[in-house]
Amino acid sequence: MADSSLPRPGCCKWAEGDAGNYTFPCSNSVEPGTSYCAEHSAIVYIPPEERRRSRSGSGMSLTFRRAA
Ligand SMILES: [Zn+2]
Repeated sequence: MADSSLPRPGCCKWAEGDAGNYTFPCSNSVEPGTSYCAEHSAIVYIPPEERRRSRSGSGMSLTFRRAA
């Protein structure tokens, strides 16, 4: 059993696979207080609808900024 099937502390918890059979292929380090690297958090925190919109190239990226 390889422990590559578990996310490592401080590393991106981006998971791929089916239920019960996840792998964590991303070993980028995370920002403090987050669970994903910058690349994957950008994917995780954007709803699919938003991703489609920005893909169509309307140029409205980053309009979803949150006030902390
Ligand atoms: Zn990642």
